[in-house]
Amino acid sequence: MGSFFSFVAYFSDIPCDNDDWVEIRQADVCTHCRICFNNCPTGAIREDRFLIDNERCLSYFNENAGEFPEWIPLSAHHCLYDCLKCQINCPMNKEYVNNVIGPIRFSEDETDRLLSGSPFDTYPPDLKQKSKKLGLHQWPAGIPRNLSILLARTSAGL
Ligand code: SF4
Ligand code: SF4
Repeated sequence: MGSFFSFVAYFSDIPCDNDDWVEIRQADVCTHCRICFNNCPTGAIREDRFLIDNERCLSYFNENAGEFPEWIPLSAHHCLYDCLKCQINCPMNKEYVNNVIGPIRFSEDETDRLLSGSPFDTYPPDLKQKSKKLGLHQWPAGIPRNLSILLARTSAGL
């Protein structure tokens, strides 16, 4: 599965007699690989810690409300939400990275609507469907801001 999955936790009081829990370990392929480190646009993957620094991760900022911090350069912005530059380039995801839907295209009017920040419920049916398919509806506070900064990046020729 590579790393394109999300953990989901659940709890139960059913006795668990067969426990397959194992010690946490790093994938062998990571030992001599620095691809994710070299591709992270915000320096969230660090030499001095195993876990990413989530307070520097672009996904964190893309999916939350508020202004982007000034230390994130315009050139670092590259997507409407999330980021995944680390996972897209990871050799463990090679088989899965092209397993995508689309392209899904937005008209100029639809783009204006996304930029306006109007609530998802008020979108015309087509735009609603496209947005839902891409998951844009999950990040109402971020999409107008993220789209604006991507357009600013394009205008700046970056
Ligand atoms: S890119 Fe993938 S294989 Fe390479 S170090 Fe990062 S997680 Fe490991
Ligand atoms: S999602 Fe992007 S910003 Fe976050 S660790 Fe991966 S490459 Fe870095």
